[in-house]
Amino acid sequence: MRQSGIQNARRVAREHVKRLGISAPEHIRIDAIAKRLVARLGLKLRIIEGPLDGADSQLIRRLGELTIIIADRIKDTASRRFVLGHELGHLMLDHPLLPSHRIGDTSTSAPTAHDVRDYEAEANAFSSELTMPYVLVNEWCSVAPVNLNVAWRIARTFGMSILASARRFAELSPERCAAVFSSHRKVTWCTESASLTLPIERRRNLHESSIACAFWSNGAIDERERHVPARAWFDTHADVEVVEHATASHEFRTVLSMLWVPDHAAEPLGMATHGFEFRNRE
Ligand SMILES: [Zn+2]
Repeated sequence: MRQSGIQNARRVAREHVKRLGISAPEHIRIDAIAKRLVARLGLKLRIIEGPLDGADSQLIRRLGELTIIIADRIKDTASRRFVLGHELGHLMLDHPLLPSHRIGDTSTSAPTAHDVRDYEAEANAFSSELTMPYVLVNEWCSVAPVNLNVAWRIARTFGMSILASARRFAELSPERCAAVFSSHRKVTWCTESASLTLPIERRRNLHESSIACAFWSNGAIDERERHVPARAWFDTHADVEVVEHATASHEFRTVLSMLWVPDHAAEPLGMATHGFEFRNRE
């Protein structure tokens, strides 16, 4: 149920992208799109900034008006775009109205069971599809070797954060890869591609041989693609290497790593080397 809800969110967002005639990055003017989508429901939209206690955003529906409040501490336009897309997701997917909340903060929330709908994940999937549409980015994501370059390109082209862009890349890549975000020396969240069948444990401590861990040991990381032992990221004894391309935020003291399992490492790690039927999640 969790997965089918997310797939449905993607499908609905893609329908909107098509209906809105979005065929180039410059068509994605999120405020104008929000107004049009809300108008279709017969509502007037107000987008305001306000103090929200620790939350990112809130949706309020009253009579013929819908108000989206975005926390005034959200200053960068990339986060604002994603947050707005997220709230539109809640609205267009007919979610029950939720109290003001943090978006994408999975470090404190309990893992969602597979048989329960995850409204937050659905709203994120909707936002991701709307702000970085499948029709415009899917082709870019069919590349090997895998590194952070395409994610940076998505971020620049669509005005999104490198985090949202890296997740988007991993969602669409046919390669065995994952975008892994770490803070406090631990894995905070991870988005694996469909073909990466060996999971990366959330909240695991960073392994000393990962590039991400160097941020904590040396205060800086090598921001080039590097081969690291597979055991740096996976629960395995296989003596093979995977590729890690990482970037650190000194301001937030976090690291984003893009991991890639090349063909020669797949079999020792128990993953299919070929014949994998990549199903894009229509
Ligand atoms: Zn939400």
